[in-house]
Amino acid sequence: MDRSDHALNGAISLKNITKRYKDVTVVENINLELAKGQFLSLLGPSGSGKTTLLRMIAGLAQPDGGQIVLNGRDIISTPANKRNFGMVFQQYALFPHMTVWDNVAYGLKARKESKSVIKERVEKYLAMVGLSHLAGRKPKQLSGGQQQRVSLARALAVEPVLMLFDEPLSNLDARLKEQMLKEIRSLHRSLGFTAIFVTHDQNEALYLSDKIAVLNKGKIEQFAAPEEIITSPVTPFVADFFGYTNRLEGAELVGRGLARIGSLDVPVGHAADGADGAKGVVLLRPNALQIADGERPGTVAATVADSRYLGGATEYRLRLEAAGGAEMTVITQRLVHPLPAAGSSVRCEFLPESVAFFKE
Ligand code: ADP
Ligand code: MG
Repeated sequence: MDRSDHALNGAISLKNITKRYKDVTVVENINLELAKGQFLSLLGPSGSGKTTLLRMIAGLAQPDGGQIVLNGRDIISTPANKRNFGMVFQQYALFPHMTVWDNVAYGLKARKESKSVIKERVEKYLAMVGLSHLAGRKPKQLSGGQQQRVSLARALAVEPVLMLFDEPLSNLDARLKEQMLKEIRSLHRSLGFTAIFVTHDQNEALYLSDKIAVLNKGKIEQFAAPEEIITSPVTPFVADFFGYTNRLEGAELVGRGLARIGSLDVPVGHAADGADGAKGVVLLRPNALQIADGERPGTVAATVADSRYLGGATEYRLRLEAAGGAEMTVITQRLVHPLPAAGSSVRCEFLPESVAFFKE
């Protein structure tokens, strides 16, 4: 089956969507567009408004302003049960007294589909999530991962115009999470549904998405493809969320791609808006400083404040005297043995591609 066989994938756009609770604006002026078959992640920390936005798209909450346009038609006043969307939640929300088969059939029965259509669809989607052999079980006889696959099959069985996910992997352990990620990605590839996926986990968003909308306090900070977000974050918030977790304040762009902090010159791979003389902040990934073998041109001195092993990697806390004693966390993807003692001096060099400058 290829993507075009799936007739019901919708194109959706949100225009100026806003939601207030009392006088607090929790979703503010959201604009985004999603083409047929695209996978969008709404990514942000807890409380950033992701669920509220998803519930408005689903029709479970009413926006205070704006439009939701599906395949060219405003659906703001269409009730949730008439939108033909599939939903998968963090809590699997299965009917406990029904078998797996009946859970998956539920939406189809509610639509009064014929017995033959129901049978065909339930069998097809249970097979797709690998659960045909458990069709006769009740939800409580299944593991968490299996229950989540049942809710996935139930949502897909109605062949929805849009699939909505609210942190569906949050209750799963690390291995199951990875397995489900692969399954969702492969289902999306083979079925071609349009999807909106809420998560606080950048890795899930990067793995699954054609587009990511990064939410902060109810607003979109950046809406772009994963590759663009990861290489060109537009704000410190987005950069921090995507792994630029070290922060050196008091920086100034001094030309030749360098940012100066105190008497330290740091090569900058990405400057969001950086004319020379601009003052701001430098954000660095944990791999932005590499310990150098010896004293070569371009290396800088650092003092080890702390060091430890992290799986197969080594993590340091390094102090940069030239930058006024600022500290940063550095991770080297190898086991350094023996660990450098606290207080010892090392020479380091910067990896510019892991360094970003933002104007204040
Ligand atoms: P997220 O899903 O990103 O964690 P939510 O959309 O659940 O965020 O919540 C966003 C903000 O809106 C939070 O500050 C939350 O407390 C608030 N909020 C959500 N629902 C309601 C409600 N029904 N009444 C009042 N405030 C709410
Ligand atoms: Mg939420």
